[in-house]
Amino acid sequence: MIKFNCDRCDMEIELDDEFAGTKHECLNCGDINRVPIPEGSDATLEDPDPAVDSKNVDRAAKAGFPPDFGPETRVIKVRRCWFRSRAIRFSLLVLIGLTSLIGLIWVPVTDKSVWWYALFAPLLLASVGILAWWWVDRLSASLEITTKRTIMHRGFFSKSSSEVVHDNIRNIQIDQTFLQRVMRVGRIGISSSGQDGIELQVNHLKNPDYLREVIDLYRPL
Ligand SMILES: [Zn+2]
Repeated sequence: MIKFNCDRCDMEIELDDEFAGTKHECLNCGDINRVPIPEGSDATLEDPDPAVDSKNVDRAAKAGFPPDFGPETRVIKVRRCWFRSRAIRFSLLVLIGLTSLIGLIWVPVTDKSVWWYALFAPLLLASVGILAWWWVDRLSASLEITTKRTIMHRGFFSKSSSEVVHDNIRNIQIDQTFLQRVMRVGRIGISSSGQDGIELQVNHLKNPDYLREVIDLYRPL
């Protein structure tokens, strides 16, 4: 018998030796655990039960990422883009902001009517304000991919997160507008076939196709 603890909810799991090296779903929390290989056992990673998905192990390691087997480690963590996913709007705002700033300096220098202040001041405030809002928005969500699950972190001052275990992923969807495709940004949506069919969505992500490829390395396909 092999005894180990679920690495998420810590419940004790007991299995027959034949399950060494396989993946096993925790009945308590649904997390997928890799069943440890008992010491002295002749089962090794290179020589697993044919039913064991050793292919999975190889795919990630071969591609130069942390192996699927072993303790959970972070593979990649990405933030949303600030500029790239809204390049045109962003450039326009910077242009408006700069023009207004120059305008505000220009009014007293050339002794123009003070009414010009009423034009430039709100424009400057608005453009700086929107850019600052985008900056906060960028910091308020991130996507973390570990060897076992994908986690979406949300919140700037308060934090929350939701996650999908890779073995439970049913579908990964990428949405991009034409412009986002050109800029190689987009929205990634992950739906799960697990307990509650969670759907994770993060937009304004750089290279969403690459992120999907990384997640796919850790999914049984
Ligand atoms: Zn568990």
